[in-house]
Amino acid sequence: MRIARSGRSLGAVRLFGTIGLALALCVSGETGASDQAGQPRGLKVFISVDMEGLAGVATGSDVSPNGPDYGHFRKVMAGETNAAIEGAAAAGATAFTVRDSHGAKQNLLPLDVDPRARLIRGATPGPKNMMEGIDQSFDAAIFIGYHARAGTPNAILAHTSNGNVTDFAINGVSMPEAGYNALVAGLYEVPVVFIAGDRAFVEQARGMLGPVEAVATKFETAGSVDSLSPAAAQTAIRAGVERGLKRRGEVRPYKLTPPYTMVLKVRADKPLYAGATRTGPGESRFAHADLLEILNAFNAMK
Ligand SMILES: [Zn+2]
Repeated sequence: MRIARSGRSLGAVRLFGTIGLALALCVSGETGASDQAGQPRGLKVFISVDMEGLAGVATGSDVSPNGPDYGHFRKVMAGETNAAIEGAAAAGATAFTVRDSHGAKQNLLPLDVDPRARLIRGATPGPKNMMEGIDQSFDAAIFIGYHARAGTPNAILAHTSNGNVTDFAINGVSMPEAGYNALVAGLYEVPVVFIAGDRAFVEQARGMLGPVEAVATKFETAGSVDSLSPAAAQTAIRAGVERGLKRRGEVRPYKLTPPYTMVLKVRADKPLYAGATRTGPGESRFAHADLLEILNAFNAMK
């Protein structure tokens, strides 16, 4: 794994060097964020919310609009989202952007989401996808309802983007959705400070991102799901997000060293993206200096 990690002081030096403003305070833990004039401001957080890792979700039908319990799990999704917002607010956040990140991205009903938050709703064709809306204005990112990558043992509803992908690696690192979404956040120097999902996901993501605050909402047992109640999960998420955001100065943005080389393995080949090469049945390779272009190729060939 070639992960470029920048410590608190290094991050401050880089930010100072590249932006040249008194923004360095933003990256140092408890000192709070400042605007460009050096005035204190509240923290701004980006919350990407999937469904498979929510408390209680056991099968694909639970997270499918056609499933009999989908309406119930929409409420659970809003509950875990709002718990994250409350925890972030308790740690000093005053601006919240929620990205609905599941399926057609129309799962969260706007009235169900905490009115302090903005909601990014609906599918988008661009490379950011589950991170649509992230940019350098954010202080931290949070993943809720996430799941492990395709093929992960003892995981719940493990997959990578869709059912066709069997593996998606960047620079030799096999990527769960949390991995490449954390890389997108890392492009803007935004650290992932909290994650929630099933236990196998939490272990996998911590292996990549480091010991970030997390809540394992449930675990797989003999092919079924043993879960916290939604209410208990939400209490834990509220507290975990507050801790994670307060500790943000200890967490480094997740990065790999460019240029990026991706290897995509799929069950059924799609047409090659411009510049990509077929390296075997169901396997293609693409290299580029721009991570977002890597994700464009992934989206085209997945
Ligand atoms: Zn999903």
